[in-house]
Amino acid sequence: MKLKWKPKKLTLVIIPDANQSVVRFRVPHLFAYIAAACFSLLLLITLITYALHAQTTKKANALQAKLSGASQQWNATLTSKDKAIEQLQNEVIQLSQQAEQMKSQVEEMKKFENDLKSISGLDANETGKAVASATGSSKNKSTEEQTPPAATSGIGGSPNPASQEAIMQLGEQTSASFTALNSEVKELQTSLTETKQKVADKQHQLAITPTLYPTNVKIVTSTFGYRTDPFTHSPSFHSGIDFGARENDAVYATADGKVVSTGKDIYHGNNIVIEHSKGLRTWYMHLNKILVNNGDNVTKGSTIGLVGSTGRSTGPHLHYEVLKNGESIDPKPYLKANRKDD
Ligand SMILES: [Zn+2]
Repeated sequence: MKLKWKPKKLTLVIIPDANQSVVRFRVPHLFAYIAAACFSLLLLITLITYALHAQTTKKANALQAKLSGASQQWNATLTSKDKAIEQLQNEVIQLSQQAEQMKSQVEEMKKFENDLKSISGLDANETGKAVASATGSSKNKSTEEQTPPAATSGIGGSPNPASQEAIMQLGEQTSASFTALNSEVKELQTSLTETKQKVADKQHQLAITPTLYPTNVKIVTSTFGYRTDPFTHSPSFHSGIDFGARENDAVYATADGKVVSTGKDIYHGNNIVIEHSKGLRTWYMHLNKILVNNGDNVTKGSTIGLVGSTGRSTGPHLHYEVLKNGESIDPKPYLKANRKDD
């Protein structure tokens, strides 16, 4: 017996309006399965496509949001950086102004040192040269240009923004200025220390040099040198200066020193010898009274005795001598100053 495969068929009925005839389709079963499969596949593809699209859109939105956030953050960072740069640039300008101010101050200090040397009678030329060399870098600028305006004074002008390059250059110049200033200040410190020592030495030298008048009265009744002797009327040598002071006028030590002799004899009367430095002494004669003792340290201008007419004297006066290495010299070149509290 022979089996015959007879494919099953489906009948599709389309029913239009009531007054029209019914349309029938007879299709094999397989067609229906294929159609259902195609429909399912199409549906699946549509669903997958929709799902992928939704996912992509979501990702894109998230990415866009992230980008937007990053962009905002970046803009904020840029703004903050711009502000920081602007602040730094302003600081560079301020520093450069400070460097100029410091330069002026260093010059002032050098000038001050120079003046100090001049006042103290030290050689100021040396410092003058130092000032000239130090000002070399900025000698073309006037002091007015170097000094920035005071905070309270008005400032103005047309806006002229500085370029970044100009600020960079200013920064480099300022750095160089500070380096130079640092070494100048170090030199100045050394120089000032030396000057301080020199001034101290000079002060000491001045203190031990008999530059004071020994009495308030500066009338000279007999100078140093040859004269006619007031007692013998013969030519003789007068080894000091006579001051026409009155009886009991104060007699001053003409420099710091040590009393090395006090005494009385028929020629010098009451007299005092003070040693000031090696080889330099002063001698005060014909005193009415001696107010110091042998070995006393005396300061310049201190009262050591009273004017009198003791010894070989015609009347009240002070015979004053300056001795160098035991030899009487003219006191006149030494007499430069009044007593300090005059
Ligand atoms: Zn005399």
